Amino acid sequence: MIIAIDGPAGAGKSTVARIIAQKLGFLYIDTGAMYRALTLKALERKINAKDIPALIEMARSTNIDLTNNQDSSLKILLDGRDVSSPIRQPCITRLVSDIAKLKGVREIMLGLQRKFGKLRDSVLDGRDIGTVVFPDADKKFYIDAEFSVRVRRRYKELKELNQDVTLKDIEKDLRNRDNIDSTREFAPLKKADDAIYIDTTSMAIGEVVNKVLSYIQ
Ligand code: C5P
Repeated sequence: MIIAIDGPAGAGKSTVARIIAQKLGFLYIDTGAMYRALTLKALERKINAKDIPALIEMARSTNIDLTNNQDSSLKILLDGRDVSSPIRQPCITRLVSDIAKLKGVREIMLGLQRKFGKLRDSVLDGRDIGTVVFPDADKKFYIDAEFSVRVRRRYKELKELNQDVTLKDIEKDLRNRDNIDSTREFAPLKKADDAIYIDTTSMAIGEVVNKVLSYIQ
C-alpha cells in the first residue's frame, strides 16, 4: 500500500507522515530529505547551483539510502554517511529548491523514490508524490495551512533543533520555496485531483493524524 502526502513546507506533513507510518508499521519515506542530501553534497563539493550538467552528473553518481529509526523518524545515508542532521541546516534549506527544480535531478530521484516505495507498504511525503511519483497511490492527501501558521510551526520546529533563526528568516524562506516549488516546470507542488485536502490551520497534529487515519482504515 502506498500513502502519498503532499503539501507546502510547514503544513505539518512530515510529522503526520511519520506518525501514520509508525502507527501502521509502514516505511516512512521523506522525499524532501533526499533532495536535501543532494544539496548537501553539492555544497560540500562546491558545485555551483547554476552548473546544471555537474549537478546532474553528481546526482547520477550519488548513493542515497534510507531507513527508519524506532520512532519511524528518518535516517538518511548519503554515500553511506548518516546525514540526517546536517541536511536540516539553513544553508541547505536556502538552496534545496533550486536543485530540486532541475529535471535531470528529479528524474534520478523519481527512480529512487519508486524503488523505495515498492520495497514495503510506505508513506511518502513530498511535493509531487500523488501527481508524479505514485499517481496510482492507494490514498492521497494534500496537507495545507495558512501561511502565517506554517511560518510559526516551522519557527518552533527549528528552535527545537537549536537553530538561530528569526520569524523573518522563516517567512522569507517559505515564500521563496513556495514560489519555486509551485511554479517550476517539472513536477510542481500541486494537489492531485483525487487527493483529500486537509487544511490544518486550526488543527492539532493528533487531530490531523486521526483524520488521515479515518480515510485509510
Ligand atoms: O520537505 P522539505 O521541506 O524538507 O523539502 C525540501 C525541498 O525539497 C522542497 O522545498 C522542494 O524544493 C524539494 N522537494 C521536491 N519534491 C519533493 C520533496 C521535496 O521538490 N517530493
